Amino acid sequence: MVDRREMLARLNPQTVRFDVGQGGGAPSLTTSDIAAALGMVPAGLGREVMEAVYLPDGAMRHRPKLAEAVLAIVRPEFTRRARALAEAEDDLSFSKEMVSLSRRNLSDAQRRILRDREAAVVLARSHAWPKNTYQHLPRMVDAVVAELASGNRCPNCRGTGLVNEKGCPECRCTGIEPLPDRRRALAIDCDPSAYTKRWKGVFEWLLTELHQENELAARQLSRALGADWFHAQPRAA
Ligand SMILES: [Zn+2]
Repeated sequence: MVDRREMLARLNPQTVRFDVGQGGGAPSLTTSDIAAALGMVPAGLGREVMEAVYLPDGAMRHRPKLAEAVLAIVRPEFTRRARALAEAEDDLSFSKEMVSLSRRNLSDAQRRILRDREAAVVLARSHAWPKNTYQHLPRMVDAVVAELASGNRCPNCRGTGLVNEKGCPECRCTGIEPLPDRRRALAIDCDPSAYTKRWKGVFEWLLTELHQENELAARQLSRALGADWFHAQPRAA
């Protein structure tokens, strides 16, 4: 099926065409139909992502509003993770204090509690995002938008899974880009090892969220383009 978001590219002012045929018996849509359908997609993160990915010059034009919408979802997530770490650390120091007050040899139960709470701190720390996450967001959002625009395709076979009769050795014929970490690190201007340690979790969370929002907006756009009132509109011959 055709991805109707591709139609948004036709809103490019430099290449305005007033009648856009889709072929296959589908009704032809004018650029104003497309613009009107876009207007029916509720404002918010999904629409901002979709416009950034699919509109010509979208990434530039929508950067400030997109950054605002991203910050709005990142903040509670950042806070939740930071609080989880603070609580785990608090639990651990509380338990340590209780043990030291008891002034006896460590019982098995106490040993187990301390071990569990130490493990909980390590886990919460691995989930917590770097303190300077907000400052790195703009670059990360740009990289995610670029990645959504390219469709995660294997660069070796351009997503076909084939370069010769044996397929594509890079992606094992899946067409999906293998090991994207290095490219992502470079895209956000960070050292690959620092990326894996500090930014991979944030990046992948952001990619998933923006991808889902983008898909939701796509369904809304598709519904708006297929709405009956579009077909009912008179067309110039
Ligand atoms: Zn490939």
